[in-house]
Amino acid sequence: MPLLPYRFTGEVVRGFGRGGKELGCPTANMDDSVIENLPEDLAVGVYYGNACFEGKEYKMAMSIGWNPQYQNEKKTVEIHLIDYYGCDFYGKKLTAVIIGFIREMKSFASLEELKKAIAKDIEIARHGTAEHGKL
Ligand code: ADP
Ligand code: MG
Repeated sequence: MPLLPYRFTGEVVRGFGRGGKELGCPTANMDDSVIENLPEDLAVGVYYGNACFEGKEYKMAMSIGWNPQYQNEKKTVEIHLIDYYGCDFYGKKLTAVIIGFIREMKSFASLEELKKAIAKDIEIARHGTAEHGKL
């Protein structure tokens, strides 16, 4: 695990409709430059931190995952802005600071379990109480 915090700026691109909004958790997918520049030792998983968008700051829950669209060879970086309920912001710039690690990625037995895990991630991200990344 690299030394956190890690900061990046990127553009919000369209994802592949994996149902973020249907899960009640839209995620702003970041462009390729963010993915290419990620420190290699930043593990796949769920993180918390802050994100700045159009001059406003939000807490965020963020995932680094493997993109099934590219046979899991390419990563995805997806950010959920906590307490943002405005319009879509595709094409906009977003700056984020990853502060800490919440959990590893895993598959869930049911949609309900996934939703529960997401709700818990968001609570942890909201309070910033998760264990920080191992130094
Ligand atoms: P996609 O597969 O295109 O990423 P999502 O269902 O994950 O689709 O929705 C993501 C989009 O929803 C974001 O790119 C953004 O424009 C919008 N959005 C609206 N509210 C939020 C939020 N609170 N956090 C992140 N994105 C949001
Ligand atoms: Mg998304």
